Amino acid sequence: MTIVIGLGGNVGTHEEVLRRLQLARTALTVLGPTRYAPLYRSAPIGPVQAPFLNSAVSLRLDDVQPPELLATVQEIEIQLGRRRRDETRWGPRSLDLDVLVWDDRVFRTPDLEVPHPRLTERRFALEPLAELLGRDHVVAGHTLEHWLSSVRDQQVEHLATTW
Ligand code: ATP
Ligand code: CA
Ligand code: CA
Repeated sequence: MTIVIGLGGNVGTHEEVLRRLQLARTALTVLGPTRYAPLYRSAPIGPVQAPFLNSAVSLRLDDVQPPELLATVQEIEIQLGRRRRDETRWGPRSLDLDVLVWDDRVFRTPDLEVPHPRLTERRFALEPLAELLGRDHVVAGHTLEHWLSSVRDQQVEHLATTW
């Protein structure tokens, strides 16, 4: 199975956030073979705050259950400084790992909804996903190309292909 995890963060200097994303990427590599998308700088959604660094990692796994995967990504967030209790909704965070897609599966458990429920309205998640899966890949009934064309007004800047 192929799972794509979106990565983001905006607390600290550019170097600090980048380092955290790199460490998260490395932590995911421990689970199975990975590929990673380019690095982007994105305008924040929610309250006024610093821009985000975003990317995504695709992960090939033989067998994992949704609760295990969520526990693993949340453990990585905590290890790298995430403190959910101290946050406001959609506010600044050291590291955010979201499960964007899981093969072509569509499911909802109390703790995990796949595809990510807000994926199709977020350019910062769609751009790296399209780099990994291709613009013809279909999510929620339409191609990523289609979804991307509807979020062109959101500011997302390509920073680097390797990082
Ligand atoms: P958003 O979900 O809008 O991106 P967020 O990332 O800031 O907001 P969090 O506080 O990181 O939200 O997560 C809130 C909860 O969302 C998590 O505890 C988790 O159980 C749940 N959740 C549901 N679907 C997903 C998913 N696809 N990926 C990650 N978390 C998810
Ligand atoms: Ca998120
Ligand atoms: Ca999240």
